[in-house]
Amino acid sequence: MEKLEILEGRKKQVYEKTKDAATFDIKCETTSLSGSVSQRACVFCGSRVVLYPVADALHVVHGPIGCAAYTWDIRGAVSSGPELHRLSFSTDLQEIDVIYGGEKKLYKSLIELIDQYQPKAAFIYSTCIIGLIGDDIDAVCKKASEETEIPVLPVHSEGFKGTKKDGYKAACDALMKIVGTGSTDGIGKYSINILGEFNLAGEAWIIKDYYEQMGIEVVSTMTGDGRIDDIRRSHGASLNIVQCSGSMVKLAKMMEEKYGIPYLRVSYFGIEDMSKALYDVAEHFKDNPSILDAAKKLVSREVGELYPQLLDIRQALAGKKAAIYVGGAFKAFSLIKALATLGMDVVLAGSQTGNKDDYTGLKEMCDEGTVIVDDSNPVELSKFILEKEADLLIGGVKERPIAYKLGVGFCDHNHERKIPLAGFVGMLNFAKEVYQSVMSPVWQFAPRKGGL
Ligand code: SF4
Repeated sequence: MEKLEILEGRKKQVYEKTKDAATFDIKCETTSLSGSVSQRACVFCGSRVVLYPVADALHVVHGPIGCAAYTWDIRGAVSSGPELHRLSFSTDLQEIDVIYGGEKKLYKSLIELIDQYQPKAAFIYSTCIIGLIGDDIDAVCKKASEETEIPVLPVHSEGFKGTKKDGYKAACDALMKIVGTGSTDGIGKYSINILGEFNLAGEAWIIKDYYEQMGIEVVSTMTGDGRIDDIRRSHGASLNIVQCSGSMVKLAKMMEEKYGIPYLRVSYFGIEDMSKALYDVAEHFKDNPSILDAAKKLVSREVGELYPQLLDIRQALAGKKAAIYVGGAFKAFSLIKALATLGMDVVLAGSQTGNKDDYTGLKEMCDEGTVIVDDSNPVELSKFILEKEADLLIGGVKERPIAYKLGVGFCDHNHERKIPLAGFVGMLNFAKEVYQSVMSPVWQFAPRKGGL
């Protein structure tokens, strides 16, 4: 096979762990190199994935239809009630709107849609073209909000203006405009908001149930199975629990500053991190020992049921090699631990949006020879998978074809999956999915194994 090369301008974003740790100086938190065909999504997509699961809000994409199509029903985020979030509305800007401006079209669309769907709020997303033609969406949103008497919130997410992370920030700014606008009556002392949990395949329900079993009140989940009225009163909670730290730490920090609510960073993937997420909350509310008692009972029961089921899978997967390429680096930490539980070795760990601290942490956790990569592309991922002889790639929808073309197993750990991977039950699902994909007999026919 032709040798795959890393572009010169990308070399500083790639690191292979060696004995000499002093050489670690990975470049990250920078815009993608032109022409590298980054796997990253745009700013608009970043804000869209964060806000998408708010199920009783209207989501209007102000821009050409392609932007709306790109993010249509983008997450496997499920709702226990309304499903307005699954519809993707667009102003479908045409050339004439680019010349004369799209404000009138946006205003007309908003009035019509709000009248028809009666949402609790509306999020209006700016796309690249809006940044270019300069529509004043703040003014349109203000006017529509005054007339319809619901929050109409501009999301300043022009696609080209930064990285996907800037989209997360735009989403947090929009959410922060709703936080604090509802009554906090009836919220107890032992109460939390769950942030950065998007209820993919019902994961937020699993996590919420664990906390409720511990005697904790969950005021809101942001944004999985999200409701505007819950977000409005979320400033009444005593603690924010933040998963997917890249997307929601900004909101947690803003709530800490404005309302004095502390926050904890957690992960719900794998036995170790899931247990820690429960114990950390119990520790925060240590003036109530019954919460810690309940957490201990819950963890003991769940791990006791789960562990024996993992043993056969672990035996089969022991020594197999995994490559990880995910959106936020924090998820990679949990995945490395979860793969260790299955006896697997990690040969590649990368993310789209990690920062220096994240990559330093990954370097500490990984074995010698592991490649750590920031903002990678298909050629690089293919190169590392082949060179390191990975048996599995863990990523999202854009990484799936890379794995299958190379003839290696794949596990979807991103927005689109339909099986919950969070919580103790999620660990079992993860183990089964990895096992089924890695051990599939189909790979014997892959070119790298001598097949056609
Ligand atoms: S906002 Fe810009 S980069 Fe993002 S989908 Fe639309 S046109 Fe593409």
